[in-house]
Amino acid sequence: MSERLVVAIDGPAASGKGTLARRLASHFGLPHLDTGSLYRAVALRASRDGVAPEVAAGRLSAADLADPALRDDAIGQAASRVAANPEVRAKLLEFQRNFANQAGGAVLDGRDIGTVICPAAPVKFYVTASLEARTDRRVGELRARGGDPIRPRVLAELEERDRRDSGRADAPLRAAPDAYRLDTTDMDAERALAAALAYMAGKGFRRAGS
Ligand code: C5P
Repeated sequence: MSERLVVAIDGPAASGKGTLARRLASHFGLPHLDTGSLYRAVALRASRDGVAPEVAAGRLSAADLADPALRDDAIGQAASRVAANPEVRAKLLEFQRNFANQAGGAVLDGRDIGTVICPAAPVKFYVTASLEARTDRRVGELRARGGDPIRPRVLAELEERDRRDSGRADAPLRAAPDAYRLDTTDMDAERALAAALAYMAGKGFRRAGS
């Protein structure tokens, strides 16, 4: 297989797309970009520096992208608000495209990877799961980080974020027409990876030597 492997993964919050992206990247030995962390970092930098998000988008450093505070739920909500700003999206576009264009290929996950960032990616996934399943996962993650989440609140916040991400005018959350839909409601991470690998093998993408 000589085609450069770019894997574009989109889907709503807590659908399992990040886990799948990390596992596929490790399976194929490819670099991975969690593009949500860019929008989270913009929201955090804007609030810390007291500047507009489009200004913060021009100030991101590698340290910003590694900040543990990025994972806070409040930052996820703030990220989805700054992500509706077209100037912010325009400022982050080139970095993401350059990442995807690396010689060996790459795995990117987000909301607009298959539709806007890498429309020509040879492999696209749209990962979904029921709102209930996504709420359970997010509650589990928050507990694992030592939090004491209130389930109905987590559910309402996920719904609100989905609504905002799908309803915005610029690069809304959508499945690309050529994306393979993977519903992970009843799948653990292992099964989701196996389903994704089976689909990719059908398209001729296998790890070298397997
Ligand atoms: O994936 P994650 O929950 O970290 O993303 C945080 C927010 O960043 C999303 O709710 C969405 O609004 C925004 N985002 C986006 N486009 C992407 C990735 C994330 O608009 N490619």
